Amino acid sequence: MTPILEAQNLCYTYGTGTPFEKKAVQNVNFKIQQGEFIGVIGHTGSGKSTMIQMMNGLIRPTSGRVLLAGKDIWEEPKKIRAVRFRVGMVFQYPEDQLFEETVMQDISFGPRNMGLTDAEIEKRARDAAKFVGLQDELLDKSPFELSGGEKRRVAIAGVIAMDPDVLVLDEPTAGLDPAGRDVLLSEIVSYHEERGNTIMLVSHSMEDVARVADRVMVMNSSHLQMFDTTQAVFSQDKELESIGLQVPQITKIMSILKADGYPVHTCLTLEEAME
Ligand code: ADP
Repeated sequence: MTPILEAQNLCYTYGTGTPFEKKAVQNVNFKIQQGEFIGVIGHTGSGKSTMIQMMNGLIRPTSGRVLLAGKDIWEEPKKIRAVRFRVGMVFQYPEDQLFEETVMQDISFGPRNMGLTDAEIEKRARDAAKFVGLQDELLDKSPFELSGGEKRRVAIAGVIAMDPDVLVLDEPTAGLDPAGRDVLLSEIVSYHEERGNTIMLVSHSMEDVARVADRVMVMNSSHLQMFDTTQAVFSQDKELESIGLQVPQITKIMSILKADGYPVHTCLTLEEAME
């Protein structure tokens, strides 16, 4: 089957030819099939953000290619905007980018730019709000009246409302408390199960990734060091340790339970998972 997303010898260098030249991504190759849930881990500075920004054409590879459903996304540079609707990206602290008068308008912003009817725009916005657990009565409020967690949900709903083939999330739970983190992860998993689309989740939390991902990419010093099933990656403690990633015991256990079909994304503790 043609992968939904493929990277071929993907490279990105910042400041080429300057004293600040930095190879941020080097020779990355991977294939992701439609419907997979991919976790992306690695140290700060390992190249995760740079890599995912190439997936929707926000930055253009220095060399190599990104294929979306078999087609080079830069084949027709004028059409790159369309790629950004198909590969939806939620950045770190996305709530900082809310700007409309009401929550509804904010969530509808993407669909409004897609040439849909008003009825379809409203349906998409309402469905997206539901996916992230936003109550109907919040939709007419100003985003600025909401709590931090609610604002985060509005921002994520705005991307989900575009119904992207691939949803890329960069640290979506950063800054939330453990309960808020778990609820949001659960909502992302439900969305994935219901829509069946493809998700790439970047997280510094190996435990979160172990709970939700089918396969895991490990970035290290601008290279894709490992890409395997979640359980296989987290069972290789020695290799992960050699690149400075300590795997907590709970992470290993969560990845095994997930592979066995336990709904570990909904549990705060191991005891809950085993119940
Ligand atoms: P991660 O997301 O894993 O923290 P990044 O992709 O942000 O990694 O960064 C990879 C490397 O590229 C780091 O060395 C970082 O300092 C460098 N880098 C990131 N953004 C820029 C930029 N805009 N200009 C120059 N260097 C950058």
